[in-house]
Amino acid sequence: MKPILDETHDPKTQSWVESANLADTDFPIQNLPFGIFRQRHANHPRVGVAIGDHILDVAGLLGYVEDDRAKFAVLACNTNASLNALMSLQADSRRILRRRLHAVLRQEASDSDQRAAWHYLFAQSDVEMLLPAKVGDYTDFYASIFHATNVGKLFRPDNPLLPNYKYVPIGYHGRASSLIATAMPVRRPCGQTRDGDAAPRFGPTKALDYELEVGFFVGASNKLGESIPIGQAEEHIFGICLVNDWSARDIQAWEYQPLGPFLAKSFATSLSPWVVTMEALAPFRAPAFARAEGDPVPLPYLFDISDQAQGGLDLWLEVSLLSIRMREAGVAPMLLGRSNFRDMYWTLAQMLTHHASNGCNLRAGDLLASGTVSGADKPARGCLLELTSRGKDPVTLPTGEQRKFLEDGDEVILRGFCEREGFRRIGLGLCRGAILPAL
Ligand code: CA
Repeated sequence: MKPILDETHDPKTQSWVESANLADTDFPIQNLPFGIFRQRHANHPRVGVAIGDHILDVAGLLGYVEDDRAKFAVLACNTNASLNALMSLQADSRRILRRRLHAVLRQEASDSDQRAAWHYLFAQSDVEMLLPAKVGDYTDFYASIFHATNVGKLFRPDNPLLPNYKYVPIGYHGRASSLIATAMPVRRPCGQTRDGDAAPRFGPTKALDYELEVGFFVGASNKLGESIPIGQAEEHIFGICLVNDWSARDIQAWEYQPLGPFLAKSFATSLSPWVVTMEALAPFRAPAFARAEGDPVPLPYLFDISDQAQGGLDLWLEVSLLSIRMREAGVAPMLLGRSNFRDMYWTLAQMLTHHASNGCNLRAGDLLASGTVSGADKPARGCLLELTSRGKDPVTLPTGEQRKFLEDGDEVILRGFCEREGFRRIGLGLCRGAILPAL
């Protein structure tokens, strides 16, 4: 399916919300990501759209939309304290809603549109952002061949990449109950570990790590027993956010065989609050990963010419660290990794289609994550396990502190943005979380 470009992508359009016109904002009028917010001291969470440093309460526009499908989409924003209802609609409805939001927020909006929207506009600094969806199921993939190879090398130097990797988008079922909103602290987990031949012990992890990932939300569902053809996969994707899939590497190393990760991953996964829609990402689509000569062609159910041509995404991702001492010294967070989503071996469509290929039903609001996004070079490593080679090569912070893995008080900050000549830069906002000591 070809990404659709329309007037909402015109880089020249400005908004009457002036902060949306600043060069460095993540949320110009070309972005319009959705999230769930609550005004401080108010009870009811609302569906909002980010515009500059403000947020528009979408349901407020109900009286100002005429198209039935747009009305339906606004109603979906009015009935639930989550994006699930909006996500469940056909992609067409939200495209029409996007055009209407764009018309209401643009500089040339009519007086009545502008007055209506102004009434439902809040400063982001005055609201609390919640989880964007009620996630029924969370699945985590392993779609970066660079990450899989780097991690594989640490455990199996002679045979880093397992033979299934280039055929199967590898994934596992994560835990939805411990998905948390950005800024919520993460408690250092306890678990069972084993050091060499010593007796196993139970205690706080000594190898706490982050994983820089992209999450994507399921839109329209498929029925149990029915698969999703690769050519239609993107019609089932609502949009993307940032995911920090916190990991306890010592617990993982001891528990993961033979059934894969369990408690090393399920203690917390942080999400950024804004879901950037596939429509907003249209200008930034890229060819799928160029497989090396000799690599197998994806099996037919994972191969689609249009997906190969533009199923990739030119999205920059960054992870930074801020220690307590850095914060006290007024030092800026240190950039630890910068990678690009173009380097993923599998596309979003391939991951989604593979997931449903056995007839597994995906439901609106389900979260699929990409796995750690790493690239070919050392600066493009999306977790400490890779960056420090499992602690052998520690990172030195500006304060002189060293890190093999995360210490208590460390804050990890993820960001993501798309930029391309001829289009307005858009961003995903931030996903942040700090480590609390173990109980
Ligand atoms: Ca992961």
